Amino acid sequence: MAEADLLITNAIVVTMDRNHTILRRGCVATTGSVISTVTPSPALLPEASAIIDARGGIVMPGLINGHTHTPMALFRGVADDLPLDQWLNKVIFPAEARFIAAATVRAGTLLSCAEMLLAGVTTACDGYFLAHEAARAAAEAGMRAVVGQGVIDFPAPGVPDPDQGVAEAARFAARWLPRQGLISPSIFCHSPYTCSAAKLKAAKRAASEKGILFQTHLAETMEERERCLAEHGISPAAYLDRLGILDRDTLLHHCIWIDPEDIDRIAASGAAVCHDPGSNLKLAAGIAPVPDMIAAGIRVALGTDSSASNNRLDLFREMNLTAKLHKVAHRDPTVLAAETVLAMATRTGADAVGLDGITGVLAPGYQADLVVLDASAPNLHPVYSPHSNLVYAAGSDNVRHVLVAGKVVVRDKKLTTIDLDALLKEIDTIATEIRSFLGQPHGN
Ligand SMILES: [Zn+2]
Repeated sequence: MAEADLLITNAIVVTMDRNHTILRRGCVATTGSVISTVTPSPALLPEASAIIDARGGIVMPGLINGHTHTPMALFRGVADDLPLDQWLNKVIFPAEARFIAAATVRAGTLLSCAEMLLAGVTTACDGYFLAHEAARAAAEAGMRAVVGQGVIDFPAPGVPDPDQGVAEAARFAARWLPRQGLISPSIFCHSPYTCSAAKLKAAKRAASEKGILFQTHLAETMEERERCLAEHGISPAAYLDRLGILDRDTLLHHCIWIDPEDIDRIAASGAAVCHDPGSNLKLAAGIAPVPDMIAAGIRVALGTDSSASNNRLDLFREMNLTAKLHKVAHRDPTVLAAETVLAMATRTGADAVGLDGITGVLAPGYQADLVVLDASAPNLHPVYSPHSNLVYAAGSDNVRHVLVAGKVVVRDKKLTTIDLDALLKEIDTIATEIRSFLGQPHGN
């Protein structure tokens, strides 16, 4: 048997392959950055220079956060429970204009990566400004990331002239292509209501030319849909379709206010959708028709959106919410079974963010992005159904070890790539300045 770099033994391996195969007494071997062996039989184990004994615990693919804005971790909890326009215009936009720069994007991204890695999230699909800094920080943290440079019709951090937005995004993409290591570049138009038709088309064209993922928020609020109907006479999804934006390399965030025709349209185009239930609930945006989208064949990923609107980047919470939210919305406990929700956060999520065949599944040839859960956690016993335990019983505090591209980035619940104490000090210093700027008294 060939040699491996790392062997994970004595595991319940939840592969998340298309058959949802589970190996009750399985082993996973990694060689370099990839999974070299997944086997049910200890007799077939390769020699390895390092061994992790999973102690009978679950080993699963690293979770995929299909939608976030990592630097916005700086604004977690700065203002909550406000109407959306007040939250954006009185707090978030002014704070971003004053504080977002290379150093703060780096700090905020590292904070998000620290939170996600400790929670078993190994891939983040990101969208913000100064994306080069976010990409560098994610790579430094050892996190896999699809990093989208933001495009919007007004001046933004690093892009003072909005007419340069698409060119800047194309430049960013060129710097990170061909895809190297953990980072895949992307272009992220904020939305059809903050980007002109010409800009949406130019940004999509630039993404297509480079063969990279195009992302946009779509139909997040009822007001957005009504405004689009009033201005263009068609729904937001139909509008993007008319502009030629919808295809397999497009990822649409939210898609709450869509009708059956929109669902058929998106399904026919091959575009993917990311569902963000925590943020949608907190902002009272609505409930996306996820079971209908999945039934129509749409690839639906799962995301958190930003720490300012969620306020966690925790896919265990999002999986739990997703499974329950749609059951109660349909008054049917058979809606969105645990396996389906788990697939959204792993295999399908990887596919939706452009990493199909690369991550999201435990099988030979895939990148070794995986999570070892704590077998000693009372809430994970007994194990009748590992899928059920992961969606309904597990929490991010059960994450014990995390690997990304074969590298141990979390060992025994401690980050190996980030000096967390120093980072938290830096974050708290930035937050003190933000509070002063916003006129928030200290000590509250
Ligand atoms: Zn968002």
